[in-house]
Amino acid sequence: MSGPRADVVARPRFDTGRDCLNLLATVGLRGADPVERVPDEAALAAWLVAAGLLDAPPVVHAKHLAAMRSLRTATWDVLAALRAGRPVPDDALVLINTDAAHSTPIPRLTADGRGVRESAHPVESALAALARDLIDLVTGPDLDRVSECTDSHCRMLFVDTSRGGRRRWCSMTRCGNRAKVRAHTARNRRRARA
Ligand SMILES: [Zn+2]
Repeated sequence: MSGPRADVVARPRFDTGRDCLNLLATVGLRGADPVERVPDEAALAAWLVAAGLLDAPPVVHAKHLAAMRSLRTATWDVLAALRAGRPVPDDALVLINTDAAHSTPIPRLTADGRGVRESAHPVESALAALARDLIDLVTGPDLDRVSECTDSHCRMLFVDTSRGGRRRWCSMTRCGNRAKVRAHTARNRRRARA
């Protein structure tokens, strides 16, 4: 494939600035051929820990993977609607509110001063935390800062915390550099023709 290397593209990303946007970033290359970065139950178990939502990999069943993907679709639909000034579609609204109603992991202090999080239903509690993070995002000041990477293949949503709010790429080292290389190649080609 041309463009970014396949193994890099397949890796989940945690640099969107919000947990609920990290969930959306489990689909890569939304603007081109979307890549599923959480392809199976084991990948979801690892992702929930890597995303900082759980302390240990939970037991993940097929229904959990389906629930994560439903939440991801609903998250996308909520943001697409609100960013376009449209009301949130009913099915997305019901799903987000249902997931958010579950309890989130419960923090517990240990004798040696560590914090651990526990839950009888770890996957549900992690999805609840993601749904609540989305509600917090869209009802707070960060909604106006949600930006889309201008790379036509990437299209990753991220929170732009830059001063002027004019960040163009999800990351300078990824899409920013690719754009620089493309511009450089185009300049050289024009020069060669001149
Ligand atoms: Zn990007």
